[in-house]
Amino acid sequence: MMIQKSNASEGGVLYLVPTPIGNFDDMTYRAVEVLKSVEYIYAEDTRVTKVLLSHFQIYTPLFSYHIFNEEEKAEEIINHLRAGKKLALVSDAGLPGISDPGFLVAKGAINSGFPVISLPGANAALTALIASGLPSDKFFFIGFLNSKASQRKKELLALADYPETLIFYEAPHRIKATLNAMFEVFKDRQAVIARELTKKYEEYIRGTLKELSELDREFKGEIVILVEGAKQTSIQSELNKLKLEEHFQYYLDRGLIEKEAMKQTAKDRGVSKSEVYKRLIKREATD
Ligand code: SAM
Repeated sequence: MMIQKSNASEGGVLYLVPTPIGNFDDMTYRAVEVLKSVEYIYAEDTRVTKVLLSHFQIYTPLFSYHIFNEEEKAEEIINHLRAGKKLALVSDAGLPGISDPGFLVAKGAINSGFPVISLPGANAALTALIASGLPSDKFFFIGFLNSKASQRKKELLALADYPETLIFYEAPHRIKATLNAMFEVFKDRQAVIARELTKKYEEYIRGTLKELSELDREFKGEIVILVEGAKQTSIQSELNKLKLEEHFQYYLDRGLIEKEAMKQTAKDRGVSKSEVYKRLIKREATD
């Protein structure tokens, strides 16, 4: 077990600092203050971050870390922390570590006993979710799907019965193919394309996956796709078509303990727990 007290003023500290996802006015006061006060800033693409730093008149020395050298850079960052330095990590946009490098550095600093302080701020997924009109109480963030069609299809199939709103990041040149694949797997669920958030051409396109996949237009800029979760009633009716032991196994595979899996199976099928228990035992005995 580890307990972190984030108010330590002495010694090395790693700050994870959010940056805007398009609109510089979304930079927080605290982000500016931290970036000015630390000894070094590590950035994904120093050219991108230089523009931001110069806008906010931040003159802190800037170094690069990116997905290809994250492991090696994590070691360098931890050595700075050992030397008592305070550092900030930023990505090109939004929260570091969310479909961006940052995780290895944060993990390395934690394992070496340094405080890791995360500042809240801009993030494309959550910004899109709360204005999507899709349920925001429970959601599942996927980020980028695999770029290979066969892998992407497998990933989508694995999500087919998740009841939560699904959130994807996608590059504009793949959006047509991705929407088609989503329509194939999720059928005609509601979905939202949230494009160019916080920017001049911000746009939300809401409709069914069929409507979105049939849109005859080019998509440019940055895009979040949100898809309505599977309706519980349709999952339940699919599960009820399975053999009892397969139905029970479905819940075990999703991490439920036997007692809970039995309870859920009984609830779905409208029978008592003892009935499920008896039938499972009987089946075991005859096998
Ligand atoms: N770290 C970022 C965050 O916290 O949201 C995400 C970085 S990821 C490399 C970039 C992807 O995020 C884009 O391809 C797009 O899917 C999404 N994204 C970033 N900015 C966006 C914006 N302004 N509008 C819509 N989507 C955006």
